[in-house]
Amino acid sequence: MRVRFAPSPTGFLHVGGARTALFNWLLARRSGGTFVLRIEDTDRARSSEAMTDAILRGLEWLGIDWDEGPLFQSDRVGEHTAAGRRLLACGHAYRDFSTPEELARDRANIAALAGEATRAARRRAESLASGEAEERAEAGEPHAVRFLVPEGSTEWEDAVHGPMRFRNRDIDDLVILRADESPTYNLAAVCDDAHARIDMVLRGDDHLSNTPKQILLARALGFPVPCFGHVPLILGRDGRRLSKRHGATNIAEYRRDVLPEAMFNFLALLGWSPGDDREVMDPGEIVRRFSLGRILRKGSVFDADKLAWLNGRHLSRLDPARLESLVNARLGELQGVEAVQNRLDGNEGLLEMLRTRARSVDALTRSVLPYLPGEIRYEPRAVRKHWKRPTQVRHYLEALRRTLDGCEWQTEPLERALRDLAGELGVGAGRLIHPLRVALTGQAVSPGIFDVLYHLGRDLSLDRIGRALETVSEEEPDPALASQTAAAPGGR
Ligand code: GLU
Repeated sequence: MRVRFAPSPTGFLHVGGARTALFNWLLARRSGGTFVLRIEDTDRARSSEAMTDAILRGLEWLGIDWDEGPLFQSDRVGEHTAAGRRLLACGHAYRDFSTPEELARDRANIAALAGEATRAARRRAESLASGEAEERAEAGEPHAVRFLVPEGSTEWEDAVHGPMRFRNRDIDDLVILRADESPTYNLAAVCDDAHARIDMVLRGDDHLSNTPKQILLARALGFPVPCFGHVPLILGRDGRRLSKRHGATNIAEYRRDVLPEAMFNFLALLGWSPGDDREVMDPGEIVRRFSLGRILRKGSVFDADKLAWLNGRHLSRLDPARLESLVNARLGELQGVEAVQNRLDGNEGLLEMLRTRARSVDALTRSVLPYLPGEIRYEPRAVRKHWKRPTQVRHYLEALRRTLDGCEWQTEPLERALRDLAGELGVGAGRLIHPLRVALTGQAVSPGIFDVLYHLGRDLSLDRIGRALETVSEEEPDPALASQTAAAPGGR
């Protein structure tokens, strides 16, 4: 199977384009076929090299590689023009000398006819005397070349939607060569698909109306007609076509927070289902299970929460060495590289403990920060909630410092010591654990406190308790502040 992805470099690689690329790539990899990348850059004014680069980089990031290309459509303009002339020569096309005013009137009429294609340009061409069109063309009079849409209807068996049928009288005689003889999209695409021997064109539903035109053009040119399949649009949560209103649609914007395998997985499930409940799959599994028959016929909704969830699932399966290097790189950004010749080395257990809770590399990295030497920041909410009785908290923290200092630094002895201490003090263990957690991490939530102690190590844990004792006492003489913060909205 020879398939292609044919983006126009007039914009970034967006979610819909990436999905089209992915589905074609999956078909090729599934069938041992060939995936061709063609850059449709014939719109010189709107295309740019920067966009081409962005598209290639986006594909590479996703792990979508191509077997042929990138081919540039602009390299074959001469062939496209020749094909247009051939259609003219054998009566499948005609010269259209319509003036801009006539064309504007035609457009107004189309609206009045409720979408039915008019044949106004064709009628004007037919009304010319024999030989007149050739003479005027030779004299250099500007004109377009239009395809002469035949009678009848155009049908195909769509790989997604099943039998499709368009009445040809609803299809306008499309321009194939502009006045400067440059080809239009449909002609260029048909020529290039034939040249690359594409046998399956899988693309978004937004191209449905191009398909009968391309089938008719291919037939008129004597090219084999490929199979076509149209994947339903991607929708936002409100059921409308996905757009910037719904959030980022440019794939590059996800690179910072989303793992490529999570995006790959997410895009695959946007319009395809493996047929069971399995959702978390790596690329290899998706390649093995992908099939055209399971592409969904209705639009699928872009659900950012699901993407975040999938990202978390992939994060928790990631190879530890790669996870560590991602976190280290992010730590470098957050703290400066030197600070980070850091304590993650030899501390794989820490990432293992934290990764199961994180949904992004960024969140994971931030959750690592309290375990690195250096100052921690006390979250005001955590302080308000768990340090609200300074005298008592200081009493507990002092007792904890003494008890833990004499303890073997393993989770079990640490736990036993803390629970015994709670017993001696006649309080539940939670009364010690909550203020201790704030002292150690600055936060009200963390993994299990004994794991936290273990990963911080003895010195850092005792240091932090010491620092907390200073901080708690600083706060005591200000009851006015305490009542003020307690009354603040959302302060619980
Ligand atoms: N260049 C077209 C686009 O970006 C795609 C053409 C095609 O898939 O046939 O929408």
